[in-house]
Amino acid sequence: MAAPTRDDALARDAADSLAALRERFIVADPDRIYLDGNSLGRLSVDVRQAMAGLVDDWGKRVVEAWNDWVELPTRVGNRLAAAALGANPGEVLIADSVSVNIYKLAHAAADHRDGPIVTDAGNFPTDRYVLEGVARQRGRAYVEAASAADAIAAAAGGVLCLAHVDYRTGRRLDIREVARQTDALVIWDLSHAVGATEIDLSGADLAVGCTYKYLHAGPGAPAFLYVRTDLQSSMRSPIQGWFSRRDQFAMAPGYEPVDGIERFAAGTPSIPGVVAIDAALALVEDAGIPGIAAKARALTSFGVELADAWLTPLGFRIGSPLDPRARGAHVALHHSEAWPICRSLIDRAGVVADFRQPDILRLGFAPLTTSFSDVWDGLDRVRRLVAAREHLEVAAGERRVT
Ligand SMILES: *Cc1c(COP(=O)(O)O)cnc(C)c1O
Repeated sequence: MAAPTRDDALARDAADSLAALRERFIVADPDRIYLDGNSLGRLSVDVRQAMAGLVDDWGKRVVEAWNDWVELPTRVGNRLAAAALGANPGEVLIADSVSVNIYKLAHAAADHRDGPIVTDAGNFPTDRYVLEGVARQRGRAYVEAASAADAIAAAAGGVLCLAHVDYRTGRRLDIREVARQTDALVIWDLSHAVGATEIDLSGADLAVGCTYKYLHAGPGAPAFLYVRTDLQSSMRSPIQGWFSRRDQFAMAPGYEPVDGIERFAAGTPSIPGVVAIDAALALVEDAGIPGIAAKARALTSFGVELADAWLTPLGFRIGSPLDPRARGAHVALHHSEAWPICRSLIDRAGVVADFRQPDILRLGFAPLTTSFSDVWDGLDRVRRLVAAREHLEVAAGERRVT
């Protein structure tokens, strides 16, 4: 079958009900094709305005504004729960980073299960490192299984942490199906899924995720954590910070956790970050997760179709699941020269993608900001660059952030 043409891409853009939302994002260089929204989402006009408003508020009201700000981590948590997670009010808190939230929830889960602490070797590095450390502190076995299926099998009676969408391959797991397969307490890492796919946490045990990828809340915006309502009263954070204490401002002696999800707070929240998340969620609500997820499936399918026609003859191999429901919003392409290809795409072809070890070129199609013509043009530039072997002219130097 012939590869889709650029007119096909334009026709899909014309039929895209989310296309108008792109206008609400800031695009400084329209010739550059941004396919790295799975690493850092673009800035929206809404978030820029909200952050400017927060700075004004701070200037005018100084400490008085804390009366409003102190409610934000739970209020915005509830908004996120309803807009994107399928969770109930009171189950989601904005706090800290994903790494710190995994630490808190893994310790709390280890209080409930005596067995091993388990993940799979393909899970995101920080998840593996933090879990290994928690296992050492708790004197538990730490198991890094070869695959998610092996991790599920190894986790009986223990604590299991899995990524809903794999950061390299993009494969997406079924949350309910995993719950049926194990008696372990499961911590879901939603970082590569939230804002890109349908998530239904109802009945799930525990979860964490970040807000700076497909939620567009900005670099270092705080993460979130979820604890199912009926688990909350019997779970405690290992960090007994004052924001998690009953009657915080009594400043009383001794520690006692507050009821509810706020017992997983630690210290003073980053208010600029929470304000950014609040504003970013307005865009997600306007689009609706069903529309966002459908567009992610359509964009990745379009990308896979083009990659299959143009790039497999050039030595690429598609590393993501071919069933669109079994993947998130990015596509992984294996190539033995993936690193120089990625560098030269950025430096010479105006395509921002990223590289993941050992041989993956990762193309992220953030549904709110990526058009079908971006996908077509981006892959067309990859094909031209690699066919001309231009990437071999780039020095394969090191960089701290890849
Ligand atoms: C991005 C990402 C993280 C990031 O963790 P931080 O503590 O926020 O730096 C963690 N896990 C996964 C799966 C991710 O995709």
